[in-house]
Amino acid sequence: MIWLLCTALVMLSGCFVMAPLFGKRGSPDSGLFAETELDRLMDRKTVIDEGLNDLEFEFKMGRLSEADFKQIETSYKEEAAVILQKIEQAEKEKGNRKSLGRSSAKCPACGADVVSKKKFCADCGHKF
Ligand SMILES: [Zn+2]
Repeated sequence: MIWLLCTALVMLSGCFVMAPLFGKRGSPDSGLFAETELDRLMDRKTVIDEGLNDLEFEFKMGRLSEADFKQIETSYKEEAAVILQKIEQAEKEKGNRKSLGRSSAKCPACGADVVSKKKFCADCGHKF
């Protein structure tokens, strides 16, 4: 009976080794680890792209009727369009935040970069 126990142990340890591999893909809370809203949207977009690929594959294999394929494809594409819009929005906001921190204004007298809110140019002392 010892071999049975050994087999069970090997299978159990095998499961522990394999578990992270299975858990990594498509775990429902993976979105929590995304750094920003943009990352989350990018992840979602990837999932949709993969879904579309799978769908196309299933259709080519003859496992889906054309009507089903079109219906699911449309819903995927509609969601993708919404995600793309949100990505665009998030990227714009990201860009805005960046430009807020650093003004692109130049001193009219010497052309040095000027930090907004300052009354005098740090380079030449020109008053704005
Ligand atoms: Zn200046």
